[in-house]
Amino acid sequence: MTLWTETSHSLPKEILCELTSIAVASHPYECVGLVVWRRRYWTVPLPAIASPRSVLVDPAVLIPTLYLLDHHSVCIVASFHSHPNGLERPSKLDDGFRLYGGSHILLVREHESFTPRTFIWSS
Ligand SMILES: [Zn+2]
Repeated sequence: MTLWTETSHSLPKEILCELTSIAVASHPYECVGLVVWRRRYWTVPLPAIASPRSVLVDPAVLIPTLYLLDHHSVCIVASFHSHPNGLERPSKLDDGFRLYGGSHILLVREHESFTPRTFIWSS
């Protein structure tokens, strides 16, 4: 059972465009990262072990990143990753994204580009 629910976008259009560009640049591999807030929104792409069907952030990268964001009072607003294969919903393996910021932007491959879709986790 999946608990992701698609919702309307809450991030500014410029940020969604930036996320789309990151997905295009990573294609055919998945991309992954965070959207954070400190005075304005910032996208934080994370280095990952990626394939066309999976993405994994090394905990040795992720944990210090989360620590630094917290230490500098930077608020995690959302996480994001892409689906170059066009799958329109988070997969079972994507459940872990619920831990970061409460909403998730999935970038779905569509018509040679990527379409952002916003999901929230409801438990
Ligand atoms: Zn996925």
